[in-house]
Amino acid sequence: MRPVKRGEVPVDSQGQAKQYREYANARKDLISRLGEYCSYCEMELDASLAVEHIQPKKYHEDLELAWENFLLACTNCNSTKGDEDPALEDILWPHLDNTFRAFAYGEEGRVKPAEGLSSELKRKAEAMIALTGLAVTPDRQTASDRRWLNRQEAWREAVAAKEDLLESDTPAMRRQIIRTARAKGYWSIWMTIFHDDIDMLTRLIQQENFAGTAQGCFDASAEPIARPGGQI
Ligand SMILES: [Zn+2]
Repeated sequence: MRPVKRGEVPVDSQGQAKQYREYANARKDLISRLGEYCSYCEMELDASLAVEHIQPKKYHEDLELAWENFLLACTNCNSTKGDEDPALEDILWPHLDNTFRAFAYGEEGRVKPAEGLSSELKRKAEAMIALTGLAVTPDRQTASDRRWLNRQEAWREAVAAKEDLLESDTPAMRRQIIRTARAKGYWSIWMTIFHDDIDMLTRLIQQENFAGTAQGCFDASAEPIARPGGQI
């Protein structure tokens, strides 16, 4: 899961911190900070991307309009999460932790806790998977839930892109692959497939390619590192 940083609350034309009258008004600002991706499943969505309340407004009325309580979510992640109200520290979160270290992605489109996590972190990674339904597979998939299928497709696309690169390794091809990754979404899958190519990893992490990726989660060699202040 892409670790994200949405930054400070945006300012208005007078340079004042924006106060949203309705949470839906934050959507545009969130998209400009984080790109058009679900913060949980990483699906690319140019429509039907909702302002997601990390802590549900049902139980945290004071956070209904709070910038720091917002992410972006697709319909499936949003509706699975619903009004679940877990304690922040019981789960690994893309805006607090280096979630790229917490999950593993496979060819078959599944999301699992990464190998080698402590039992506590594994439990917290599993809690995120359960919260958003990221482990939904064909046998438990509703017709509207295409996350699993889309992940599989992104995997195949990334593998094909890597083969193309092997055949013709040019800066133009590398730029083209990044454009494809941006259009397809599923950032973690591209990071997984290109794990041994520092140049591609660096491009995938860059702000101008994937806005909102938390820079502090990677070292100069694009290796994922513990997030300052995070659980992983
Ligand atoms: Zn989603």
